[in-house]
Amino acid sequence: MVKQITEAARKTPVLTETDVLVIGSGPSGLAAALAAAREGVDTMLVERYGCFGGCITQAGVESIAWYRHIGTVDIQGIGVEFEQRARAMGASDPEPQSRSDALNTELFKVVADTLVTEAGITPLLHCWAVDAILAGDTIRGVVTESKSGRQAILARRVIDASGDADVAHLAGAPWRMAPVKERLGVTVSFSMCGVDRQRFMAHVRDRPATITDWGVETTGKEDHLFSPYLAEPFARAKAAGEIPEGVNIAGTWSRISAHGDATYLNLVYMPGVDATNVRDLTYGEIEGRRQVMWAAQALQKYTPGFEKAQLRSFGAALGTRESRKIIGMYNLTADDVRRQGRFTDAIGIFPEFIDGYGELVLPSTGRYFQVPYGILVPAEVENLLVAGRCVAGDQISHAATRAMMCCAVTGQGAGVAAALSIQDDVTCRQVNIKRLQNRLIRQGVRIH
Ligand SMILES: Cc1cc2nc3c(=O)[nH]c(=O)nc-3n(C[C@H](O)[C@H](O)[C@H](O)COP(=O)(O)OP(=O)(O)OC[C@H]3O[C@@H](n4cnc5c(N)ncnc54)[C@H](O)[C@@H]3O)c2cc1C
Repeated sequence: MVKQITEAARKTPVLTETDVLVIGSGPSGLAAALAAAREGVDTMLVERYGCFGGCITQAGVESIAWYRHIGTVDIQGIGVEFEQRARAMGASDPEPQSRSDALNTELFKVVADTLVTEAGITPLLHCWAVDAILAGDTIRGVVTESKSGRQAILARRVIDASGDADVAHLAGAPWRMAPVKERLGVTVSFSMCGVDRQRFMAHVRDRPATITDWGVETTGKEDHLFSPYLAEPFARAKAAGEIPEGVNIAGTWSRISAHGDATYLNLVYMPGVDATNVRDLTYGEIEGRRQVMWAAQALQKYTPGFEKAQLRSFGAALGTRESRKIIGMYNLTADDVRRQGRFTDAIGIFPEFIDGYGELVLPSTGRYFQVPYGILVPAEVENLLVAGRCVAGDQISHAATRAMMCCAVTGQGAGVAAALSIQDDVTCRQVNIKRLQNRLIRQGVRIH
Protein backbone atom coordinates (compact mmCIF):
# COMPACT_ATOMS: atom_id res chain seq x y z
CA MET A 1 0.00 0.00 0.00
CA VAL A 2 1.43 3.37 -1.04
CA LYS A 3 1.76 5.85 1.83
CA GLN A 4 -0.99 8.47 1.46
CA ILE A 5 -2.10 11.83 2.82
CA THR A 6 -5.58 13.36 2.78
CA GLU A 7 -5.88 16.76 1.13
CA ALA A 8 -8.29 19.32 2.58
CA ALA A 9 -11.54 19.84 0.65
CA ARG A 10 -11.42 23.14 -1.24
CA LYS A 11 -13.47 25.44 -3.43
CA THR A 12 -11.98 25.84 -6.90
CA PRO A 13 -12.55 29.04 -8.87
CA VAL A 14 -13.97 28.69 -12.39
CA LEU A 15 -11.58 30.31 -14.83
CA THR A 16 -14.02 30.28 -17.74
CA GLU A 17 -16.77 28.41 -19.56
CA THR A 18 -16.69 27.37 -23.20
CA ASP A 19 -18.58 25.24 -25.69
CA VAL A 20 -15.70 22.98 -26.73
CA LEU A 21 -12.60 22.48 -24.61
CA VAL A 22 -9.58 20.80 -26.21
CA ILE A 23 -6.82 19.50 -23.94
CA GLY A 24 -3.46 19.15 -25.67
CA SER A 25 -2.30 20.88 -28.84
CA GLY A 26 -0.40 18.29 -30.89
CA PRO A 27 -1.49 17.55 -34.45
CA SER A 28 -4.75 16.11 -33.08
CA GLY A 29 -5.60 18.86 -30.58
CA LEU A 30 -4.69 21.64 -32.97
CA ALA A 31 -6.85 20.07 -35.68
CA ALA A 32 -9.71 19.50 -33.21
CA ALA A 33 -9.72 23.10 -32.00
CA LEU A 34 -9.54 24.50 -35.54
CA ALA A 35 -12.31 22.21 -36.76
CA ALA A 36 -14.63 23.06 -33.84
CA ALA A 37 -14.02 26.81 -34.06
CA ARG A 38 -14.66 26.75 -37.82
CA GLU A 39 -18.09 25.23 -37.07
CA GLY A 40 -18.91 28.38 -35.13
CA VAL A 41 -18.74 27.26 -31.49
CA ASP A 42 -16.67 28.84 -28.70
CA THR A 43 -13.48 26.83 -28.50
CA MET A 44 -10.64 26.83 -25.99
CA LEU A 45 -7.29 25.11 -26.49
CA VAL A 46 -5.33 24.25 -23.34
CA GLU A 47 -1.68 23.22 -23.49
CA ARG A 48 0.69 22.31 -20.64
CA TYR A 49 3.83 23.72 -22.30
CA GLY A 50 4.62 27.13 -23.76
CA CYS A 51 3.83 26.46 -27.42
CA PHE A 52 1.25 24.63 -29.51
CA GLY A 53 2.24 21.70 -31.72
CA GLY A 54 2.81 18.72 -29.41
CA CYS A 55 5.44 16.34 -30.73
CA ILE A 56 6.15 18.70 -33.65
CA THR A 57 7.33 21.63 -31.56
CA GLN A 58 8.21 19.81 -28.32
CA ALA A 59 10.00 16.69 -29.55
CA GLY A 60 11.07 18.30 -32.84
CA VAL A 61 9.35 15.71 -35.07
CA GLU A 62 9.39 17.30 -38.50
CA SER A 63 8.46 14.50 -40.95
CA ILE A 64 4.71 15.04 -41.03
CA ALA A 65 4.04 12.84 -44.10
CA TRP A 66 7.21 10.87 -44.77
CA TYR A 67 5.07 7.86 -45.73
CA ARG A 68 3.89 9.70 -48.89
CA HIS A 69 5.35 8.08 -51.99
CA ILE A 70 4.30 7.74 -55.62
CA GLY A 71 0.93 5.96 -55.51
CA THR A 72 -0.10 7.07 -52.01
CA VAL A 73 -3.77 7.98 -51.67
CA ASP A 74 -3.54 10.52 -48.88
CA ILE A 75 -5.80 12.33 -46.45
CA GLN A 76 -7.30 15.72 -47.14
CA GLY A 77 -8.15 18.28 -44.50
CA ILE A 78 -6.41 20.14 -41.70
CA GLY A 79 -3.34 17.84 -41.62
CA VAL A 80 -2.51 18.78 -45.20
CA GLU A 81 -3.31 22.39 -44.34
CA PHE A 82 -0.56 22.26 -41.65
CA GLU A 83 1.93 21.22 -44.30
CA GLN A 84 0.72 23.77 -46.88
CA ARG A 85 0.53 26.63 -44.41
CA ALA A 86 4.02 25.86 -43.13
CA ARG A 87 5.30 25.94 -46.72
CA ALA A 88 3.54 29.26 -47.37
CA MET A 89 5.11 30.74 -44.22
CA GLY A 90 8.61 29.50 -45.11
CA ALA A 91 8.46 26.95 -42.31
CA SER A 92 9.38 23.78 -44.21
CA ASP A 93 11.73 22.21 -46.74
CA PRO A 94 11.38 19.14 -48.93
CA GLU A 95 11.64 15.96 -46.86
CA PRO A 96 14.54 13.79 -48.13
CA GLN A 97 12.85 10.40 -48.63
CA SER A 98 9.26 11.15 -49.70
CA ARG A 99 6.89 13.43 -51.57
CA SER A 100 6.27 15.59 -48.53
CA ASP A 101 7.70 18.47 -46.53
CA ALA A 102 9.79 18.41 -43.37
CA LEU A 103 8.45 21.08 -41.03
CA ASN A 104 10.70 23.69 -39.47
CA THR A 105 9.63 22.77 -35.96
CA GLU A 106 10.71 26.10 -34.42
CA LEU A 107 8.81 28.16 -36.99
CA PHE A 108 5.84 25.80 -36.68
CA LYS A 109 5.24 27.41 -33.27
CA VAL A 110 4.38 30.60 -35.15
CA VAL A 111 2.36 28.71 -37.77
CA ALA A 112 0.28 27.20 -34.94
CA ASP A 113 -0.11 30.58 -33.18
CA THR A 114 -1.31 32.07 -36.47
CA LEU A 115 -3.84 29.31 -37.16
CA VAL A 116 -5.20 29.45 -33.60
CA THR A 117 -5.52 33.24 -33.66
CA GLU A 118 -7.13 33.37 -37.12
CA ALA A 119 -9.76 30.80 -36.08
CA GLY A 120 -10.73 32.81 -32.99
CA ILE A 121 -9.78 29.98 -30.62
CA THR A 122 -9.18 31.03 -27.01
CA PRO A 123 -5.61 29.89 -26.24
CA LEU A 124 -4.27 28.87 -22.84
CA LEU A 125 -0.62 27.86 -22.49
CA HIS A 126 1.31 26.70 -19.41
CA CYS A 127 -1.80 25.02 -18.08
CA TRP A 128 -2.22 21.33 -17.13
CA ALA A 129 -5.49 19.43 -17.00
CA VAL A 130 -5.25 17.54 -13.69
CA ASP A 131 -8.79 16.36 -13.01
CA ALA A 132 -12.09 15.78 -14.78
CA ILE A 133 -15.37 17.34 -13.64
CA LEU A 134 -18.28 14.93 -13.99
CA ALA A 135 -22.02 15.06 -13.43
CA GLY A 136 -23.02 11.42 -13.32
CA ASP A 137 -21.54 9.83 -16.43
CA THR A 138 -21.17 13.14 -18.31
CA ILE A 139 -18.05 15.27 -18.41
CA ARG A 140 -18.60 18.94 -17.59
CA GLY A 141 -15.06 20.28 -17.75
CA VAL A 142 -11.62 19.88 -16.23
CA VAL A 143 -9.65 21.13 -13.26
CA THR A 144 -6.36 22.76 -14.22
CA GLU A 145 -3.11 23.71 -12.49
CA SER A 146 -1.00 26.63 -13.61
CA LYS A 147 0.92 29.57 -12.21
CA SER A 148 -2.54 31.02 -11.49
CA GLY A 149 -3.23 28.09 -9.17
CA ARG A 150 -5.93 25.46 -9.33
CA GLN A 151 -8.85 26.52 -11.55
CA ALA A 152 -11.78 24.85 -13.28
CA ILE A 153 -12.79 25.22 -16.91
CA LEU A 154 -16.40 24.26 -17.63
CA ALA A 155 -17.33 23.01 -21.09
CA ARG A 156 -20.25 21.50 -22.94
CA ARG A 157 -17.92 19.09 -24.76
CA VAL A 158 -14.34 18.04 -23.96
CA ILE A 159 -11.80 16.65 -26.41
CA ASP A 160 -8.87 14.78 -24.90
CA ALA A 161 -5.91 15.28 -27.23
CA SER A 162 -3.28 14.83 -24.52
CA GLY A 163 -1.59 11.89 -26.25
CA ASP A 164 -1.73 9.93 -23.00
CA ALA A 165 -5.55 9.96 -22.64
CA ASP A 166 -5.08 11.92 -19.40
CA VAL A 167 -8.61 13.32 -19.32
CA ALA A 168 -10.26 10.02 -20.24
CA HIS A 169 -8.27 8.38 -17.45
CA LEU A 170 -9.20 11.09 -14.94
CA ALA A 171 -12.86 10.82 -15.98
CA GLY A 172 -12.86 7.08 -15.33
CA ALA A 173 -13.22 6.02 -18.96
CA PRO A 174 -11.75 2.57 -19.58
CA TRP A 175 -8.36 2.34 -21.29
CA ARG A 176 -5.63 -0.20 -21.84
CA MET A 177 -1.88 0.07 -21.98
CA ALA A 178 0.52 -2.61 -23.24
CA PRO A 179 3.12 -3.89 -20.76
CA VAL A 180 5.96 -1.37 -20.77
CA LYS A 181 8.43 -3.78 -22.39
CA GLU A 182 6.08 -4.24 -25.37
CA ARG A 183 5.52 -0.53 -25.93
CA LEU A 184 7.27 1.54 -28.59
CA GLY A 185 10.34 3.31 -27.20
CA VAL A 186 10.77 6.96 -26.26
CA THR A 187 13.27 9.34 -27.84
CA VAL A 188 15.27 12.43 -26.97
CA SER A 189 15.69 13.94 -30.43
CA PHE A 190 18.43 16.47 -31.14
CA SER A 191 19.87 18.81 -33.75
CA MET A 192 23.42 19.70 -34.77
CA CYS A 193 24.86 22.75 -36.52
CA GLY A 194 28.01 23.17 -38.60
CA VAL A 195 27.43 20.18 -40.88
CA ASP A 196 29.28 20.33 -44.20
CA ARG A 197 26.15 19.68 -46.21
CA GLN A 198 27.83 19.03 -49.54
CA ARG A 199 30.28 16.56 -48.07
CA PHE A 200 27.56 14.75 -46.13
CA MET A 201 25.23 14.54 -49.12
CA ALA A 202 28.07 13.25 -51.31
CA HIS A 203 28.67 10.54 -48.68
CA VAL A 204 24.95 9.68 -48.69
CA ARG A 205 24.98 9.47 -52.50
CA ASP A 206 28.03 7.18 -52.40
CA ARG A 207 26.50 4.83 -49.85
CA PRO A 208 22.74 5.29 -50.01
CA ALA A 209 20.81 3.52 -47.28
CA THR A 210 17.54 1.82 -48.12
CA ILE A 211 14.62 0.65 -46.03
CA THR A 212 16.31 -2.79 -45.91
CA ASP A 213 18.93 -1.28 -43.58
CA TRP A 214 16.25 -0.79 -40.91
CA GLY A 215 16.13 -4.55 -40.40
CA VAL A 216 12.34 -4.56 -40.08
CA GLU A 217 9.73 -6.72 -41.75
CA THR A 218 8.27 -5.14 -44.90
CA THR A 219 5.98 -6.23 -47.70
CA GLY A 220 9.00 -6.25 -50.06
CA LYS A 221 7.87 -3.28 -52.14
CA GLU A 222 9.49 -0.93 -49.61
CA ASP A 223 12.94 -2.50 -49.65
CA HIS A 224 14.55 -0.61 -52.52
CA LEU A 225 13.36 2.82 -51.35
CA PHE A 226 15.95 5.34 -50.19
CA SER A 227 16.02 6.00 -46.44
CA PRO A 228 17.87 8.72 -44.52
CA TYR A 229 19.02 5.98 -42.16
CA LEU A 230 22.30 5.99 -40.25
CA ALA A 231 23.73 3.02 -38.36
CA GLU A 232 27.36 2.62 -39.37
CA PRO A 233 28.89 5.47 -37.31
CA PHE A 234 27.33 4.05 -34.16
CA ALA A 235 28.36 0.47 -34.94
CA ARG A 236 31.93 1.74 -35.35
CA ALA A 237 31.76 3.70 -32.10
CA LYS A 238 30.44 0.61 -30.35
CA ALA A 239 33.23 -1.56 -31.77
CA ALA A 240 35.72 1.02 -30.47
CA GLY A 241 34.14 0.84 -27.00
CA GLU A 242 32.83 4.43 -27.26
CA ILE A 243 29.16 3.42 -26.92
CA PRO A 244 28.38 0.88 -24.19
CA GLU A 245 26.95 -2.56 -24.96
CA GLY A 246 23.18 -2.65 -24.59
CA VAL A 247 22.74 0.89 -25.92
CA ASN A 248 21.25 0.86 -29.42
CA ILE A 249 21.81 4.04 -31.35
CA ALA A 250 20.68 4.19 -34.99
CA GLY A 251 17.95 5.95 -36.91
CA THR A 252 17.20 8.78 -39.26
CA TRP A 253 18.34 12.26 -40.17
CA SER A 254 15.91 14.60 -41.91
CA ARG A 255 16.42 18.23 -42.97
CA ILE A 256 19.99 19.43 -43.51
CA SER A 257 19.51 23.17 -43.95
CA ALA A 258 21.50 25.32 -46.35
CA HIS A 259 23.34 26.64 -43.26
CA GLY A 260 24.44 23.16 -42.24
CA ASP A 261 21.89 22.44 -39.54
CA ALA A 262 20.85 18.80 -39.13
CA THR A 263 17.57 19.83 -37.58
CA TYR A 264 16.03 16.51 -36.56
CA LEU A 265 18.21 13.58 -35.56
CA ASN A 266 16.04 10.70 -34.44
CA LEU A 267 18.79 8.29 -33.36
CA VAL A 268 18.19 7.47 -29.71
CA TYR A 269 15.42 4.94 -29.09
CA MET A 270 14.80 3.79 -25.52
CA PRO A 271 12.37 0.96 -24.81
CA GLY A 272 11.03 0.24 -21.33
CA VAL A 273 10.06 3.79 -20.35
CA ASP A 274 6.51 4.35 -19.07
CA ALA A 275 5.38 7.81 -20.20
CA THR A 276 2.67 7.89 -17.52
CA ASN A 277 5.22 7.48 -14.71
CA VAL A 278 7.07 10.59 -13.53
CA ARG A 279 10.16 8.67 -12.42
CA ASP A 280 10.39 6.95 -15.81
CA LEU A 281 10.01 10.30 -17.58
CA THR A 282 12.85 11.71 -15.49
CA TYR A 283 15.05 8.72 -16.29
CA GLY A 284 14.13 8.99 -20.00
CA GLU A 285 15.16 12.65 -20.25
CA ILE A 286 18.50 12.18 -18.47
CA GLU A 287 19.42 8.86 -20.06
CA GLY A 288 18.26 10.18 -23.45
CA ARG A 289 20.59 13.17 -23.24
CA ARG A 290 23.45 10.86 -22.19
CA GLN A 291 22.85 8.72 -25.28
CA VAL A 292 22.58 11.79 -27.52
CA MET A 293 26.11 12.78 -26.44
CA TRP A 294 27.42 9.37 -27.59
CA ALA A 295 25.48 9.69 -30.83
CA ALA A 296 26.81 13.20 -31.53
CA GLN A 297 30.40 12.14 -30.85
CA ALA A 298 30.05 9.14 -33.17
CA LEU A 299 28.65 11.39 -35.90
CA GLN A 300 31.62 13.78 -35.53
CA LYS A 301 34.15 10.97 -35.61
CA TYR A 302 32.73 8.59 -38.20
CA THR A 303 30.46 10.55 -40.56
CA PRO A 304 31.86 12.59 -43.47
CA GLY A 305 30.50 16.14 -43.23
CA PHE A 306 29.89 16.01 -39.45
CA GLU A 307 33.56 16.43 -38.44
CA LYS A 308 33.05 20.04 -37.25
CA ALA A 309 29.38 19.75 -36.35
CA GLN A 310 28.27 20.70 -32.83
CA LEU A 311 25.24 19.83 -30.77
CA ARG A 312 22.69 22.62 -31.32
CA SER A 313 19.68 21.56 -29.25
CA PHE A 314 17.84 18.68 -27.60
CA GLY A 315 14.13 18.17 -28.23
CA ALA A 316 12.39 20.35 -25.64
CA ALA A 317 10.65 17.29 -24.19
CA LEU A 318 11.04 13.53 -24.33
CA GLY A 319 9.10 12.14 -27.30
CA THR A 320 6.52 9.46 -26.43
CA ARG A 321 5.23 7.04 -29.07
CA GLU A 322 2.81 4.95 -27.02
CA SER A 323 0.98 4.98 -23.68
CA ARG A 324 -2.74 4.70 -22.84
CA LYS A 325 -5.25 3.79 -25.55
CA ILE A 326 -8.92 4.20 -24.68
CA ILE A 327 -11.41 1.35 -25.00
CA GLY A 328 -13.72 2.85 -27.58
CA MET A 329 -17.17 2.35 -29.00
CA TYR A 330 -15.09 0.63 -31.71
CA ASN A 331 -11.50 -0.56 -31.38
CA LEU A 332 -9.48 -0.43 -34.60
CA THR A 333 -7.64 -3.64 -35.54
CA ALA A 334 -4.58 -4.67 -37.51
CA ASP A 335 -6.94 -6.20 -40.06
CA ASP A 336 -8.71 -2.86 -40.57
CA VAL A 337 -5.39 -1.23 -41.43
CA ARG A 338 -4.04 -4.11 -43.53
CA ARG A 339 -7.27 -4.89 -45.39
CA GLN A 340 -8.60 -1.45 -46.22
CA GLY A 341 -11.26 -1.34 -43.49
CA ARG A 342 -14.48 0.39 -44.50
CA PHE A 343 -16.90 1.91 -41.97
CA THR A 344 -20.33 3.51 -42.19
CA ASP A 345 -19.21 6.03 -39.54
CA ALA A 346 -16.01 7.02 -41.40
CA ILE A 347 -14.64 10.48 -40.55
CA GLY A 348 -11.69 10.34 -42.93
CA ILE A 349 -9.18 8.07 -44.55
CA PHE A 350 -5.57 7.15 -43.92
CA PRO A 351 -3.21 5.35 -46.30
CA GLU A 352 -2.12 1.80 -45.52
CA PHE A 353 0.89 2.64 -43.37
CA ILE A 354 2.42 0.69 -40.51
CA ASP A 355 5.48 1.92 -38.63
CA GLY A 356 6.27 0.05 -35.46
CA TYR A 357 6.68 -3.29 -33.69
CA GLY A 358 9.33 -4.42 -36.18
CA GLU A 359 7.14 -3.76 -39.21
CA LEU A 360 7.12 -1.14 -41.92
CA VAL A 361 4.49 -0.86 -44.64
CA LEU A 362 4.63 2.18 -46.91
CA PRO A 363 1.56 3.15 -48.93
CA SER A 364 2.67 3.11 -52.56
CA THR A 365 -0.25 1.08 -53.93
CA GLY A 366 -3.20 3.43 -53.39
CA ARG A 367 -4.60 1.28 -50.59
CA TYR A 368 -6.17 3.09 -47.63
CA PHE A 369 -8.49 2.44 -44.70
CA GLN A 370 -11.35 4.55 -43.41
CA VAL A 371 -11.05 6.00 -39.92
CA PRO A 372 -14.22 5.25 -37.93
CA TYR A 373 -15.81 7.74 -35.53
CA GLY A 374 -16.22 4.94 -32.98
CA ILE A 375 -12.51 4.96 -32.06
CA LEU A 376 -12.87 8.52 -30.68
CA VAL A 377 -15.82 7.73 -28.41
CA PRO A 378 -14.94 6.21 -25.03
CA ALA A 379 -16.95 3.13 -24.06
CA GLU A 380 -18.22 5.06 -21.03
CA VAL A 381 -18.39 8.81 -20.16
CA GLU A 382 -20.62 11.08 -22.26
CA ASN A 383 -19.61 14.20 -24.19
CA LEU A 384 -15.93 13.31 -24.06
CA LEU A 385 -14.11 12.57 -27.31
CA VAL A 386 -10.53 11.38 -27.64
CA ALA A 387 -8.26 12.24 -30.57
CA GLY A 388 -4.69 11.50 -31.61
CA ARG A 389 -2.44 8.65 -30.66
CA CYS A 390 -4.61 7.51 -27.73
CA VAL A 391 -7.67 6.57 -29.86
CA ALA A 392 -9.03 3.05 -29.46
CA GLY A 393 -7.24 0.24 -31.26
CA ASP A 394 -4.73 -2.59 -31.05
CA GLN A 395 -0.97 -2.23 -31.36
CA ILE A 396 -0.63 -2.64 -35.12
CA SER A 397 -3.46 -0.18 -35.74
CA HIS A 398 -1.60 2.16 -33.37
CA ALA A 399 1.41 1.92 -35.69
CA ALA A 400 -0.82 3.67 -38.26
CA THR A 401 -3.03 5.99 -36.18
CA ARG A 402 -0.08 7.45 -34.26
CA ALA A 403 1.17 9.10 -37.48
CA MET A 404 0.72 12.85 -37.25
CA MET A 405 -1.51 13.08 -40.33
CA CYS A 406 -3.82 10.40 -38.92
CA CYS A 407 -3.84 12.26 -35.59
CA ALA A 408 -5.04 15.30 -37.53
CA VAL A 409 -7.81 13.18 -39.11
CA THR A 410 -9.09 12.05 -35.70
CA GLY A 411 -8.69 15.59 -34.34
CA GLN A 412 -10.71 17.16 -37.13
CA GLY A 413 -13.39 14.49 -36.76
CA ALA A 414 -13.59 15.12 -33.01
CA GLY A 415 -13.76 18.89 -33.41
CA VAL A 416 -16.60 18.82 -35.93
CA ALA A 417 -18.48 16.14 -33.99
CA ALA A 418 -18.23 18.11 -30.74
CA ALA A 419 -19.56 21.26 -32.42
CA LEU A 420 -22.34 19.40 -34.22
CA SER A 421 -23.47 17.62 -31.08
CA ILE A 422 -23.93 21.00 -29.37
CA GLN A 423 -25.79 22.47 -32.34
CA ASP A 424 -28.06 19.39 -32.63
CA ASP A 425 -28.44 19.11 -28.85
CA VAL A 426 -27.42 15.45 -28.71
CA THR A 427 -24.55 13.72 -26.92
CA CYS A 428 -21.33 13.00 -28.79
CA ARG A 429 -22.33 9.32 -28.89
CA GLN A 430 -25.63 10.21 -30.59
CA VAL A 431 -24.22 12.43 -33.33
CA ASN A 432 -25.93 11.94 -36.69
CA ILE A 433 -23.17 10.38 -38.79
CA LYS A 434 -24.50 11.57 -42.15
CA ARG A 435 -24.57 15.16 -40.91
CA LEU A 436 -21.10 14.75 -39.40
CA GLN A 437 -19.73 13.45 -42.69
CA ASN A 438 -21.35 16.27 -44.66
CA ARG A 439 -19.79 18.87 -42.33
CA LEU A 440 -16.40 17.18 -42.63
CA ILE A 441 -16.65 17.13 -46.43
CA ARG A 442 -17.54 20.83 -46.29
CA GLN A 443 -14.30 21.32 -44.30
CA GLY A 444 -12.35 19.61 -47.09
CA VAL A 445 -12.00 16.13 -45.53
CA ARG A 446 -11.78 13.07 -47.78
CA ILE A 447 -14.14 10.37 -46.48
CA HIS A 448 -14.02 7.86 -49.39
C1 LIG B 1 10.63 10.63 -31.61
C2 LIG B 1 9.36 10.50 -32.37
C3 LIG B 1 9.40 10.43 -33.74
C4 LIG B 1 8.23 10.35 -34.46
N1 LIG B 1 8.30 10.38 -35.82
C5 LIG B 1 7.16 10.54 -36.53
C6 LIG B 1 7.20 10.82 -37.91
O1 LIG B 1 8.27 10.88 -38.50
N2 LIG B 1 6.04 11.02 -38.57
C7 LIG B 1 4.82 10.95 -37.92
O2 LIG B 1 3.79 11.15 -38.55
N3 LIG B 1 4.76 10.67 -36.62
C8 LIG B 1 5.89 10.49 -35.89
N4 LIG B 1 5.83 10.25 -34.55
C9 LIG B 1 4.51 10.07 -33.91
C10 LIG B 1 3.77 11.39 -33.72
O3 LIG B 1 4.66 12.45 -33.52
C11 LIG B 1 2.81 11.32 -32.53
O4 LIG B 1 2.15 10.09 -32.49
C12 LIG B 1 1.79 12.45 -32.65
O5 LIG B 1 2.44 13.69 -32.54
C13 LIG B 1 0.72 12.32 -31.61
O6 LIG B 1 -0.12 13.42 -31.74
P1 LIG B 1 -1.12 13.78 -30.58
O7 LIG B 1 -1.80 15.05 -30.98
O8 LIG B 1 -1.94 12.61 -30.24
O9 LIG B 1 -0.19 14.01 -29.30
P2 LIG B 1 1.12 14.91 -29.05
O10 LIG B 1 1.74 15.35 -30.33
O11 LIG B 1 1.91 14.11 -28.10
O12 LIG B 1 0.49 16.17 -28.32
C14 LIG B 1 -0.10 16.05 -27.05
C15 LIG B 1 -0.14 17.46 -26.45
O13 LIG B 1 -0.87 17.44 -25.25
C16 LIG B 1 -0.18 18.17 -24.23
N5 LIG B 1 -0.60 17.60 -22.95
C17 LIG B 1 -0.38 16.35 -22.51
N6 LIG B 1 -0.97 16.15 -21.33
C18 LIG B 1 -1.58 17.32 -21.00
C19 LIG B 1 -2.35 17.75 -19.89
N7 LIG B 1 -2.65 16.90 -18.88
N8 LIG B 1 -2.82 19.02 -19.87
C20 LIG B 1 -2.53 19.88 -20.90
N9 LIG B 1 -1.81 19.51 -21.99
C21 LIG B 1 -1.34 18.25 -22.03
C22 LIG B 1 1.27 17.92 -24.58
O14 LIG B 1 2.13 18.89 -24.00
C23 LIG B 1 1.24 17.97 -26.10
O15 LIG B 1 1.37 19.27 -26.60
C24 LIG B 1 6.99 10.30 -33.79
C25 LIG B 1 6.95 10.33 -32.40
C26 LIG B 1 8.12 10.44 -31.69
C27 LIG B 1 8.05 10.54 -30.20
